[in-house]
Amino acid sequence: MAKITLDNLAHSYLPNPKGEDDFALKELNHDWEDGSAYALLGSSGCGKSTLLNIISGLLHPSQGRILFNDNDVTAAPTAERNIAQVFQFPVVYDTMTVRENLAFPLKNRGSDPAYVASRVQQIAQMIGMEAMLDRKARGLTADAKQKISLGRGMVREDVNAILFDEPLTVIDPHMKWELRTQLKSLHREFGHTMIYVTHDQTEALTFADKVVVMYDGRVVQMGTPQELFERPEHTFVGYFIGSPGMNLLDARVDGRTAHVEGCAIDLGAGYRPLSGRVQIGVRPEYVRLTADPAGMPVRVRRVEDVGRHKIVRADFFGTEINIIAGEGESLSPDMNRISFAPGSINVYADDWRVAPEGAQADPMGRAA
Ligand code: ADP
Ligand code: MG
Repeated sequence: MAKITLDNLAHSYLPNPKGEDDFALKELNHDWEDGSAYALLGSSGCGKSTLLNIISGLLHPSQGRILFNDNDVTAAPTAERNIAQVFQFPVVYDTMTVRENLAFPLKNRGSDPAYVASRVQQIAQMIGMEAMLDRKARGLTADAKQKISLGRGMVREDVNAILFDEPLTVIDPHMKWELRTQLKSLHREFGHTMIYVTHDQTEALTFADKVVVMYDGRVVQMGTPQELFERPEHTFVGYFIGSPGMNLLDARVDGRTAHVEGCAIDLGAGYRPLSGRVQIGVRPEYVRLTADPAGMPVRVRRVEDVGRHKIVRADFFGTEINIIAGEGESLSPDMNRISFAPGSINVYADDWRVAPEGAQADPMGRAA
């Protein structure tokens, strides 16, 4: 198992990249701690697979170095890196049985036959394929083949890391939850460094200790699910995570007051003068619909009952604002004002979060 360090890494698929736009992966410095379970989250095309393939050695980066436990492996071929990788679509040997497919990575390394047999049995149980061990892979459903691929990724106990690239795409929904739970327990048992790529926030937040969010070829934030929720470092993290995502309103910030459409909002802390596009971000969970005349005026457009809570879609001076009202909260037609919970507002300049003045920098180098 290994700590993985990305040092000044960048990648362009073009032979002569001109500017930053030509890079699928913008310059990146990042440590993946040994034994942690990470989710790599971002929308399609943001560079997740590119990054994974560079770590496993399938792709050679145009710039920078990859270190495993401080050893430079940038030039090392995939086999030497001792990494298991599971792809979005099944990679299985059709002419082999399920058992032979699962055993392959172990046999390949010359493992003891008795160990291979018991380990294969264990993995077959995890992926729910014990009954099919002697069937040929040919003729199995895509779903079953992908489970074999997952099993093959997990079968070796001695790998440096296991990389999963959207592995549950072709798996049917009820099995997804089951397999994700298995992956988590595998992680608890063996403590492999795991990187799990997904574009699904629920998958990311339920799988990982730490979520790494990518946007447009950049890592914009790494944090616990709670950090991503409370303090999104980039507006993308704000609206990508959460359901619905963070409300963003254009604002003018003056000291500890934000001015939005003639309303003055207390930010709870002071800010230095800001330039660029300034916005405030407030999660729907922290917006309250009220009849209190001291609130800011909104026009309620629609109320959606989603079971545990209600989502109120309202219009705030021409901008849609979403409000989450808890189960116990009763809504009435005279509620046409909103207020924001104290301490719940984040301030952004050109999409990046600005820390209030006097905030302590945390050990990650970000501001609290
Ligand atoms: P993700 O996995 O997040 O969907 P990718 O890493 O596959 O994103 O792609 C990142 C960017 O690089 C995209 O703009 C994609 O079109 C481009 N890209 C990916 N693979 C190649 C390739 N082999 N050749 C050229 N461009 C590529
Ligand atoms: Mg991909």
